Amino acid sequence: MTQDTADCAQPLTVLAEDELIFRDSVREFAEARVRPLVREMDEHAKISKALIDQLFELGVMGIEVPEVYGGAGGRFFHSVLAVEELSRVDGSVGISVAAHNSLCSNHIYQYGTEAQRQKYLVPLASGEHLGAWGLTEPSAGSDASGTKSTAARADGGWIVNGSKNFITHAIHADTCVAMAVTDRGKKSKGISAFIFEKGMKGFSPSKKENKLGLRASETASVVFEDCLVPEDQLLGEEGQGFVNSMEILDGGRISIAALALGIAQGAYESAVKYSKERQQFGKPISEFQAIQFKLANMATQIDAARLLMYRAAWMKDEGKKTTKESSMAKLFASEISVNVCEEAIQVHGGYGYTKDYPPEKYWRDSKLCTIGEGTSEIQRIIIAREILKQI
Ligand SMILES: Cc1cc2nc3c(=O)[nH]c(=O)nc-3n(C[C@H](O)[C@H](O)[C@H](O)COP(=O)(O)OP(=O)(O)OC[C@H]3O[C@@H](n4cnc5c(N)ncnc54)[C@H](O)[C@@H]3O)c2cc1C
Repeated sequence: MTQDTADCAQPLTVLAEDELIFRDSVREFAEARVRPLVREMDEHAKISKALIDQLFELGVMGIEVPEVYGGAGGRFFHSVLAVEELSRVDGSVGISVAAHNSLCSNHIYQYGTEAQRQKYLVPLASGEHLGAWGLTEPSAGSDASGTKSTAARADGGWIVNGSKNFITHAIHADTCVAMAVTDRGKKSKGISAFIFEKGMKGFSPSKKENKLGLRASETASVVFEDCLVPEDQLLGEEGQGFVNSMEILDGGRISIAALALGIAQGAYESAVKYSKERQQFGKPISEFQAIQFKLANMATQIDAARLLMYRAAWMKDEGKKTTKESSMAKLFASEISVNVCEEAIQVHGGYGYTKDYPPEKYWRDSKLCTIGEGTSEIQRIIIAREILKQI
């Protein structure tokens, strides 16, 4: 373990040398390639296709996929370091990497057959395909076991009907993993996962959301209309789709913690910088104790969130069950992120309320983290359930 002793805008970390080198390489990429595009992508609510291609070239898409399947053969820890660093500059880029890696690719890697890994994971890891993952439906959000989409047995496969909403990459994804009910009587044990390919008859993207934040990240619905899904596109065992999804979300929530953390770090750095530059009453505002206390609280919250996130990611790489730790990391990081971003606006005064300075965007982006992949309320329910099990 080494300590990173950079200036006050970069709090202490406890990363190994190779992890620091990796983190810094993603940070350099984010500064050089993402930073110049942030405002334009936010305003146009569109991520640059060239940027997605560069993320594949950098190797962060599919980073934890083994080399034999075209990935970089890294650890999950590398994936969340990348999400944090990208989100420090633009959360929309961070959530793209998180959804592609932790949800879609990971579901196929964890539960796919060898043939499915070859057919779908290899292009997802090597940059030919972009991935999406659909659990949420208009009437099944927090209660995802209330899935309404159905998959009925048919000659050669399944006929799927229904819809999913709020799906990251729904329009541009080449591969989408989505859940549908295969046996209503078995409730959550009657939900199965399927792999959908862009362009399949009866599978189409629908309404794109016009969002408060993370605007460059595409969020849209998908519709299934008598979509014939061949038998070999059932992912995992029949009836295990919901159960497997909950395990996928254990990893996904660590990625959302990294997203929240990166956004908070970016907002905090902008507040530190501004507080040293802005003069009132004849001195920089950083000399007022009220501002210093804000910065101290922000730095402390960010470090605490980072340690929770690192613990959960480390446990996942060790093959341990992380349900409680993932929810704790996600809950804490997302809530402090909203708070840190709001305080960053306050440090900027009136300028923080304008689009000329970064905090307003960080604040808009941070709010998703208390909602996506399970709201804060749901994380508290999960944590309480896990704690009470242990007593
Ligand atoms: C930008 C964005 C990207 C997303 N990407 C994806 C994606 O790629 N794939 C995907 O499947 N989904 C995705 N989602 C969906 C997201 O996971 C859901 O929005 C989230 O799970 C909440 O569901 P809901 O919006 O239906 O809220 P609801 O479940 O309707 O919740 C409304 C409110 O009620 C509260 N509530 C609900 N149940 C309880 C309870 N039992 N106890 C206490 N409070 C409760 C909630 O905490 C919340 O405050 C995305 C959402 C957004 C906004």
